[in-house]
Amino acid sequence: MTDTTDPEAGATNAFGSLKIDFGGRLGTPVPTPAGGSSLNPFGGGISIIGGGAADAAPIAGGPPATASAEGPTKSNVLIIGSGPAGLTAAIYAARANLSPIVLAGSAPGGQLMLTSEIENYPGFPEGIDGPELMGRFRAQAARFGTHIVDVDIDRVDLSERPFRAWARGVEYTGESLIIATGASALWLNLESEQRLRGRGVSACATCDGFFFRDREIAVVGGGDSAMEEANYLTRFASKVHLLHRRDGFRASKIMIDRTYGNPKIEVHTNAAIDEVVGDTKVEALRVKDTRTGDVREMRIEGLFVAIGHKPNTDVFAGWLETDEKGYLVAHEHTNSRIPGVFIAGDVQDHRYRQAVTAAGDGARAAIDAERWLESEGIAEHQTATAW
Ligand code: NAP
Repeated sequence: MTDTTDPEAGATNAFGSLKIDFGGRLGTPVPTPAGGSSLNPFGGGISIIGGGAADAAPIAGGPPATASAEGPTKSNVLIIGSGPAGLTAAIYAARANLSPIVLAGSAPGGQLMLTSEIENYPGFPEGIDGPELMGRFRAQAARFGTHIVDVDIDRVDLSERPFRAWARGVEYTGESLIIATGASALWLNLESEQRLRGRGVSACATCDGFFFRDREIAVVGGGDSAMEEANYLTRFASKVHLLHRRDGFRASKIMIDRTYGNPKIEVHTNAAIDEVVGDTKVEALRVKDTRTGDVREMRIEGLFVAIGHKPNTDVFAGWLETDEKGYLVAHEHTNSRIPGVFIAGDVQDHRYRQAVTAAGDGARAAIDAERWLESEGIAEHQTATAW
């Protein structure tokens, strides 16, 4: 691999000149034939595919996407989040002439930006890279007049209409609000794990598995995600160690059986990771036996963390209801408990968590918002629905 770019500089991708950093130091971008860049987990972690649909020309009059505070800050539909749910909501709202604003986050595109190939999104029989798919969503939303701002919100005020959200000191308002902030992977939160993220530590087997061909690696977790990732990674790795802190699994029986039946996977129960060993890349794990306290070193070159997800709801604390797992609660259809505030996608869904279900949710939320705006006398509905 050849170093061509300052790893601190981030990566240019289908979103234009956006700087992407999914947390921790990014690795070393290397050129790819696709014209984008990929990041090697021995010094990096994600694949960014450039060009393509995001370069599509907006229709005349459609505002461009922006990473600054330029452009409108008041809208009929304010959308927070830019994964499949948020951008589908934007496509629907924009086509209904509601001029939505999307506050897309500083790492826009959601979890699909961490996925190398999506084979189950309808319409792409050959599969499509996650970043490219999200670039297409974004181009489609922008084409119909969505104003997209790549900022994280700091706080919201949902006490009255218009609803308000602040990002980098700028106040954005929406006569209605669609929350589609998604969920993020959980980490062990070891100093060594965070330091070596993108340098052999990853939370995305589908993004980074390829880089571990013929290497010995480990997966941590005892749920379906860990089992699924461990099995997937045997396509590349010479051996996969699955480490779980207890001897009982949360995973389904079929996944447990598949894992134990895979000759390339060795399961270690009662095994907690104390430390990821390595200065600039992963060299080993210090693994503690949770029953005896004994610590041993396990030589591996990669660690995949698959210990679940956390919905991105912190900023809505006190305003909206959450369930026992911390996910937002939608009542009838996509309604939150506050009239005019709608919820879509993984931020309220720990069951399906699919791009296509999130996109469907986004469409539902936009139609619900449109109908609600009409009921409040703010806008006439445009999207034909049967009710
Ligand atoms: P999960 O079911 O919540 O499992 C998380 C696992 O990580 C648990 O075994 C937990 O250990 C472990 N863990 C959590 N924090 C940890 C820490 N700090 N250190 C070490 N281990 C830690 O999450 P998931 O596997 O992501 O699954 C989430 C949902 O998606 C589930 O409903 C699952 O069925 C579904 N899913 C389904 C499929 C499929 O059907 N193919 C694939 C993926 C996910 P403890 O058990 O000790 O708490």
